[in-house]
Amino acid sequence: MKKIIIAIDGYSSSGKSTMARDLAKKIGYVYVDSGAMYRAVTLYALRHGIISESGIDTEALVNALPDIRISFEPAGADGIQHTLLNGEDVEREIRDMQVSSKVSSVAEIPEVRQRLTALQQEYGEHKGIVMDGRDIGTTVFPHAEMKVFVDASPEERARRRVRELEAKGEKVTYGEVLENIRHRDFLDTTRKESPLCKAADAVVLDNDRMTIAEQMQWLLDLYHKTAD
Ligand code: C5P
Repeated sequence: MKKIIIAIDGYSSSGKSTMARDLAKKIGYVYVDSGAMYRAVTLYALRHGIISESGIDTEALVNALPDIRISFEPAGADGIQHTLLNGEDVEREIRDMQVSSKVSSVAEIPEVRQRLTALQQEYGEHKGIVMDGRDIGTTVFPHAEMKVFVDASPEERARRRVRELEAKGEKVTYGEVLENIRHRDFLDTTRKESPLCKAADAVVLDNDRMTIAEQMQWLLDLYHKTAD
């Protein structure tokens, strides 16, 4: 069986990270969560006052990019890969609402995208990788052998996200999460640089009414068809 690159793109909270992570584990591939990288840059900017009430100081952020090191720690006892920002485990912090509400504006900055795209491409040099995000099949790995575009309604995605955040002890309302999802969809699909869109050769997975097990089987079938 040949080693391939698997690109999984889709809307916010469509469940693509979970399915990408589980698929990678099942087939012994490396998993990279590209959204976590944009989130880590956003957290850095928040911590350093580069994002404030008045907006993002784009110039300061671009200048700071060489000081931002992002890496991943392999999954430990919790089964989750942890994101490191300059060596510090920030996995929890990058998922909170403060980061979520700013990350799509940070992801619009072309220099941020260029830097993270280059890093993501390095991860794929030896293939055998599953990466999820918004522009993986279109910009990061346009020649990926397997491309999936995950879709689900904003309402279903908001319900899932609320459950996820509540399980972590965060107090959120369905309304604010739905609003955040709609806002990120808008920014992600309308930005100039690498907007979220389905690659022409991506296969759509509409998971509104699918269980996790059904999604996994769907992905495994496509993987075997592609890599065997
Ligand atoms: O996947 P996740 O929701 O964690 O991604 C956070 C944000 O990072 C997205 O809303 C999007 O704005 C940005 N992103 C991106 N390109 C990627 C991955 C994420 O612009 N490849």
